[in-house]
Amino acid sequence: MLGVLITFLLVAAAALAVTQVGGIITLLFIAAILFLAYKRLSLVAFAATITELLAAYTVYGHPAGIWKGILWVMLALLWLFTFRPLRKALVTRPFMKTYLRMLPAMSQTEREALEAGTVWWDGELFTGAPKWDKLFATRPPQLSAEEQAFLDGPCDELCRMLDDWDITHVRGDLPPAVWDFIKAKGFFAMIIPKKYGGLEFSAYAHSCVLAKLASRCTTASSTVAVPNSLGPGELLLHYGTQEQKDHYLPRLARGEEIPCFALTGPRAGSDAASIPDTGVVCKGMYEGREIVGLKLNFSKRYITLAPIATVIGLAFKLQDPDRLLGDERTDYGITCALIPRNTPGLTIGRRHFPLNVPFQNGPIQGKDIFVPLDFIIGGPKLAGQGWRMLVEQLSVGRCISLPSSATGATKAAVFATGAYARIRRQFNTASGNFEGVAEVLARMTGTAYIMDATRSVTAGAIDGGERPSVPSAMLKYNLTEMGRQIANDAMDIHGGKGICLGPKNYLGRGYEIVPVAITVEGANLLTRSLIIFGQGAIRCHPFVLREMNAAREKDKRKGVKEFDAALFGHIGFTLSNAVRSLVMALTLARFSRVPETGPTQRYFQHINRFSASFAFATDVAMLTLGGYLKKKESLSARLGDVLSCMYLASLVLKHYDNQGQPEEDLPLVEWACRSLLYKAQEQLHSFLRNFPNRFMAAAMRFFIFPRGQTYHAPSDPLAHAVASTVLRPSTTRTRLTEGAYRTVEPTNPLGLLHEALTLAETAEAYEKRVRVDGVKTGKITALDLPGQIQQALAQGILSETEATFLRDYDKRVMELIHVDDFTTEEMAAGHSQDEMRQMRYG
Ligand SMILES: Cc1cc2nc3c(=O)[nH]c(=O)nc-3n(C[C@H](O)[C@H](O)[C@H](O)COP(=O)(O)OP(=O)(O)OC[C@H]3O[C@@H](n4cnc5c(N)ncnc54)[C@H](O)[C@@H]3O)c2cc1C
Repeated sequence: MLGVLITFLLVAAAALAVTQVGGIITLLFIAAILFLAYKRLSLVAFAATITELLAAYTVYGHPAGIWKGILWVMLALLWLFTFRPLRKALVTRPFMKTYLRMLPAMSQTEREALEAGTVWWDGELFTGAPKWDKLFATRPPQLSAEEQAFLDGPCDELCRMLDDWDITHVRGDLPPAVWDFIKAKGFFAMIIPKKYGGLEFSAYAHSCVLAKLASRCTTASSTVAVPNSLGPGELLLHYGTQEQKDHYLPRLARGEEIPCFALTGPRAGSDAASIPDTGVVCKGMYEGREIVGLKLNFSKRYITLAPIATVIGLAFKLQDPDRLLGDERTDYGITCALIPRNTPGLTIGRRHFPLNVPFQNGPIQGKDIFVPLDFIIGGPKLAGQGWRMLVEQLSVGRCISLPSSATGATKAAVFATGAYARIRRQFNTASGNFEGVAEVLARMTGTAYIMDATRSVTAGAIDGGERPSVPSAMLKYNLTEMGRQIANDAMDIHGGKGICLGPKNYLGRGYEIVPVAITVEGANLLTRSLIIFGQGAIRCHPFVLREMNAAREKDKRKGVKEFDAALFGHIGFTLSNAVRSLVMALTLARFSRVPETGPTQRYFQHINRFSASFAFATDVAMLTLGGYLKKKESLSARLGDVLSCMYLASLVLKHYDNQGQPEEDLPLVEWACRSLLYKAQEQLHSFLRNFPNRFMAAAMRFFIFPRGQTYHAPSDPLAHAVASTVLRPSTTRTRLTEGAYRTVEPTNPLGLLHEALTLAETAEAYEKRVRVDGVKTGKITALDLPGQIQQALAQGILSETEATFLRDYDKRVMELIHVDDFTTEEMAAGHSQDEMRQMRYG
């Protein structure tokens, strides 16, 4: 409707402009209306201003009779809608009834879960006019001296102790000394307050520890991530009784208790709320006394740390058929309890084998386990509150664990691959000099920048008090998908070196763990298709949740009043976004107001534009498809992608600012923003192409892409500039990979690769001389570099010092390029650490 109306206005205006004397005035009049809509005036202010404008237009523009009539009738309708009692009777009440029928039923728990966490920058992107001040007011993330000391001390030391091949192939576990170190130094206690003996780290420090560990050994980072994420520690902190906190938290902090959290089972994976596991309130014997307790029956699988856990956080459905809890209810819903490992009836200890990355993970079953009611986290008063607890706490944990680990592994991959592409020579030049390789390296580098920006800026927001639930889904999905892309890209650039497993392979296990990151904490297909946009559209939208709550309000008078305010606010919001989208698409957002005037200004403006288009498309989709949109997952996934791209691009700009806007990082910022905004455009385009109501799709296209798809992906020269930043030692390379374990030591391939990279420039100059003065002139006939160096020395092409340098460089390079080989017996897992060390370091 709206599209037709505005098209009609524009066509009429254009026609009048050509045929009537007052044509110019007509155009000015229409432009003034668009300007007012763009500026989002209140309904009364809008109606009052339009009245004055229309009066002036009628007098000076001499509009045609019918045209004038239509305009005055429309203005009269506008004024009618400013009269609340009338619009409530004519519009709000009838519409509210229909709206209520369309609303899916929602339990109190579901509603609480939906309202969990906070709305932060994600909410601004739903407005169509994001207030950048809000993002820029977020404190840049910072490490305290103590946190920095932990990263430089115990964290580096742990990295040094980790021998990935020994862990993943030889023992299938972390060595006992590593377990002891992890527990003793508090790696499992990063979120536990100091008063309970924990480290009480900021979200950013927590993220940095995981990133560093993931850059070295994913088995270790997965192991450390779990007790610090959603699980007993987190749940006790927020919901535990004082007694539970006093008992468990110091023991968890000291590593005396190893926690796990068991939600998933064979029958309930993605649809975790449908777990069939039960806890029935009944009387039973416990420690020789008859008490009212819970009889638990459950079967769980995929539970990280379960095989060695001493305390199991368990999710089950609580039932009270005999109403022993003294409430009318018999079904309480999901409840969480803590079950000690030695509880009779528990089967625990066997392991799953998650794709050659042998962090502890396995099934747990419980048969008729009887435990006291005060094993429920928070005690019996929190019976049935489990789902709310999980969703609330997920908003922080999901922003940190997997996004940080993916970023750490990515930093390592980029650091290694940049160096490898420089020292690996094919066709007489570094492989990174070829455009095909540089393109992939640029993608890796730019993507790493996006990931680092997103995880660090979001961690800063959490440290500032946010608990961003929709961003947690965006981070989890996007950063693990980017991690998957990077793992593939690193493999491609390394060729066979990445493929042949063994102690010399520093990529293989990182590649293998990718599907684990994709699957856990909300599998990515589900997160993209259902959660990001589905939750965002309700939680972040400025009006939808208000409308839903108002429609369900028990006090009808209050409900209608609130619904009316939300509904008319919403209508004005949608109209304004339509106009904003159109105007910014036509002007390429050149006049949109943004905080920056420097080289990044245009990216801010493009985000403004996509925000308006996205907000408009969201409203049209919800209005026309209603609850059916949930079923049209491909559509909501695409809108989710648009939201994610805007979120990530904004955080790139903020990160650049946080880092002091270093000029040399600009190519990365540009590559990141261009790639993300191009994807936003393409996903919006695909959304429109697939929108089932073709008339509405055409109307939306008019407002969103009146000039077609005008935004371009990064150019080749930009990509080459990005790749070059990691193909040589540079401040950008150092800054981008900050926090990865890069120490130069014999057992750290990352450090050794960088060391070789620092020598490459000089070595390349010598090699060139050997080639040009020696090989091309026929003075040098040897086919390999050691032979050529020998002849170059003899011919005076290289000095003694230069030849020694080049020999040493070549030796280092060949050590890094070599891969392992085994006898069939050696390949079988189970070799002693010493044997493998012998193989690796000679
Ligand atoms: C190594 C590992 C560690 C884990 N650790 C724990 C743990 O500590 N505690 C715990 O409780 N659980 C844990 N999990 C379980 C994990 O959370 C689940 O694997 C995950 O929720 C997916 O469940 P599923 O594997 O049964 O897949 P399924 O639910 O069968 O899903 C299969 C695929 O279908 C997709 N899908 C399902 N529904 C939809 C939909 N509506 N739209 C689009 N796509 C959809 C999913 O995204 C997925 O890609 C772990 C899993 C693994 C593999």
